[in-house]
Amino acid sequence: MPLYVLNKDGKPGMTRRQCTGEYKIKPIKKKVRELLGYPYPARIPRGVFVEQWVGISTDEFHRAKDADVKYMRNRHPLITDMGWSRSDCIRYLTSLGLADTPKSSCLGCPFHGNAQWRNIRDNSPQEWEDVVEFDAAIRKGNARANATGNPLLGEAFLHRSRVPLSEAPIDHVTAAEWAAMQQELTDSGPDLQELEQGVVDSCSPWACRGDVAPVQDDFGLAT
Ligand code: SF4
Repeated sequence: MPLYVLNKDGKPGMTRRQCTGEYKIKPIKKKVRELLGYPYPARIPRGVFVEQWVGISTDEFHRAKDADVKYMRNRHPLITDMGWSRSDCIRYLTSLGLADTPKSSCLGCPFHGNAQWRNIRDNSPQEWEDVVEFDAAIRKGNARANATGNPLLGEAFLHRSRVPLSEAPIDHVTAAEWAAMQQELTDSGPDLQELEQGVVDSCSPWACRGDVAPVQDDFGLAT
């Protein structure tokens, strides 16, 4: 995951984003191979493939991509067959009593803005507990990396402030943060709304929200 890191010398950094590839695309490919009857490393004959329907709407057509292997073919029925925009999808979900369907993303995605963190805390106490616990568990980095002698040389956090999520300033902007933010708010800098919202796009295996560059903020790099 793209975690915010505080290095030993106090400098901020981020870990490399490989979550979508590792946690979504790899397991999907593994399952598809199994379904086709050619588990890795068997060679899949030419012309054998699955068709995978991906729910990207017309207003997000730029996120519709082909799969990177021949045994999977992505199809985007909302775009090619139905011409449905996001509003059409919401209208349909509303007719089924599912009007509050949120955009998909991992619960603990570091690209959440304060508004998204508050929403979890205030509306899903159990999920908040889970994510706070997860944040504490990643402080020293990845267990496997630590076990194989590649420990994180610093501390990792889910919130861009690089403090434990349970203490992160998701409710208010302190005077010091305001001052730093004012300095950052140049023509090319982020506005407060961007910092609040984080990356609002959803995240799916074939359209990762991490492809939308997070804003630079007053707490350090968020690239
Ligand atoms: S929502 Fe996407 S970018 Fe964020 S942690 Fe999950 S897979 Fe990674």
